[in-house]
Amino acid sequence: MSKRTIFWFRRDLRLADNPALLACFDAADEVIPLFILDDEISERAGQHRRAFLANSLNALNESLGGALHVISGKPVDVIASLMKRYETTSVHSAFPFAPYGNTRDEELRGSGIKLEQLGSSYAVAPGRVVKGDGTPYKVYTPFYRAWLAHGWRAPVAAPKNPNWVKPKKSDQNIPNWKAPDGITLQEAGEAAALSRFKKFLKETSLDYGDNRNIPGIEGTSRLSPHLRWGEIHPRTILASLGPSKGHEVYRKEIAWREFYADVLHHNPHTTRDYYDSRYKKMRYEKLGKTFDAWCSGNTGYPFVDAAMRQIVREGWMHNRARMVVASFLVKDLHIEWQHGANFFMKYLIDNDVASNSHGWQWTAGCGTDASPYYRVFNPIEQGRRFDPDGIYIKKYIPELSHLQGDDIHEPWESESGYKNGYPKRIVDHAAERLDSLARLEEIKAAKPPKP
Ligand SMILES: Cc1cc2nc3c(=O)[nH]c(=O)nc-3n(C[C@H](O)[C@H](O)[C@H](O)COP(=O)(O)OP(=O)(O)OC[C@H]3O[C@@H](n4cnc5c(N)ncnc54)[C@H](O)[C@@H]3O)c2cc1C
Repeated sequence: MSKRTIFWFRRDLRLADNPALLACFDAADEVIPLFILDDEISERAGQHRRAFLANSLNALNESLGGALHVISGKPVDVIASLMKRYETTSVHSAFPFAPYGNTRDEELRGSGIKLEQLGSSYAVAPGRVVKGDGTPYKVYTPFYRAWLAHGWRAPVAAPKNPNWVKPKKSDQNIPNWKAPDGITLQEAGEAAALSRFKKFLKETSLDYGDNRNIPGIEGTSRLSPHLRWGEIHPRTILASLGPSKGHEVYRKEIAWREFYADVLHHNPHTTRDYYDSRYKKMRYEKLGKTFDAWCSGNTGYPFVDAAMRQIVREGWMHNRARMVVASFLVKDLHIEWQHGANFFMKYLIDNDVASNSHGWQWTAGCGTDASPYYRVFNPIEQGRRFDPDGIYIKKYIPELSHLQGDDIHEPWESESGYKNGYPKRIVDHAAERLDSLARLEEIKAAKPPKP
């Protein structure tokens, strides 16, 4: 009788460069490919993310020749029932490396299920790169150097002539989740990820260092949703990068993702809680009209509003814009970073708890930013500098499309600035910046929290 085992796809919806999947075929002749629709996660996800996942599952199912089992429920129950039905004794998967996945695995192990795990979504597994004294890095640049020196394995091929076990019809519940009306998401799936990466390498990567901060052009790879769902592994990406300046900058960005995963690994409470606990004591404002204006892209600051409309429209936002809107929420509106992070997690198709929570905390000032000063982004200057001709702003804010030159960044300076109904500024940036600095002084003066 042929030996069967289960492969549990989680954040690795691909066949190539998937060592855990190869290990699965080393252990068995036939594999039951499984994806579990965890109700707890599905309920939290917004429509964009759900639609992207559904598209990705359909793509994976196609590459498995229709064999993907997609079952809703609690992982421990789903797996126990499949193991019984298929008479298997173990389950293979990659290591999760985020608090929710870790807890889920503990539960499985606790119930006696044997999990065989190998690899992760990272080139170097979180926790592996440490300082000489064995403690984790807290600052990105030295982490980057050590990560580079550590190195990573070469990518591996997809399994050859795999034997997949076909599901019963009732075990293939790929959800019919669609993007909201009028919204087109970028294509999902392993093939789309590889083709996007190839296009990036050919057309964009060499100028990446110069163009990656300009949201009005396709200057970045937009691989983040593919990395989030594991449709491509960072090792595959790193293996194709050379010594050019553009590639070097790109490698450093991939390393930011690895750094934040490492920081979260050592500080699992920071998914929701402060990395620097002093900031918990800061005076923050309650949610209300200003938060609503931020969410809907109606703050009256064009660069901020363009970005907030982009996330709602595309389920994705440019990195420069993410920093500016995050700074605006925390330092101009004085709202705690977790509210912004939740909003991002709902909309982003690349939602990643490590990069999101730490991207927010970095910008809020309570994270791993090594800068010696308190950074407050000026939303007008950021627009002028990174979107000088207003291409990005005009794309998402039709009310401002009639403005030329500098007026696009300061519609209040133009006589016709508000003629198409663009909202007035909800706060005065210069005043809020000073308020933010005053709030910072208050916590600095307070006694340090007990460790
Ligand atoms: C407030 C805030 C929230 C964020 N939330 C997320 C999130 O939920 N998921 C997510 O993947 N990224 C997040 N980022 C990081 C970054 O904005 C996105 O990874 C990037 O915009 C994705 O676009 P891209 O693939 O075109 O990036 P590229 O510029 O092409 O970079 C290539 C890859 O490097 C990684 N990367 C680049 N910049 C960063 C960074 N600053 N931090 C971590 N990884 C990085 C990503 O995996 C990205 O796909 C956040 C940043 C901020 C400031």
